[in-house]
Amino acid sequence: MARYDFAPHFSEEEFTCHCGCGIENPNREFLERLERARIRADIPFPVISGSRCADHNKDVGGIDFSSHFADEDTESHAADVWTRGTRQRGIIVPSLVAVGFNRLGLADTFIHVDIDPALPPNVIWLY
Ligand SMILES: [Zn+2]
Repeated sequence: MARYDFAPHFSEEEFTCHCGCGIENPNREFLERLERARIRADIPFPVISGSRCADHNKDVGGIDFSSHFADEDTESHAADVWTRGTRQRGIIVPSLVAVGFNRLGLADTFIHVDIDPALPPNVIWLY
């Protein structure tokens, strides 16, 4: 898998839209910060959803103007990190907060994190 040289714990494949369209284009500042959180946590951050094209975002029920959205001219600013349970969540969430992320969404099986500047900071929501 092709790793990002500025975020070597993450691969281009992880951030490529799942529909087969091939779009990737994640924001570099976002990925560099995610890499710092990953190093701090020192446990795997499997990304189950990175960038999404408009069609795929609609298919998975993503909101309009989702921070996952990417096209040739638009970078995505979000990742859904798979978690198996309370212990991983209890390590990953503090590591994300420690490097400055302040927009998190908690689900049973993943943690959403983004740095969408158009959306309110200092929020944690539940799915
Ligand atoms: Zn797509």
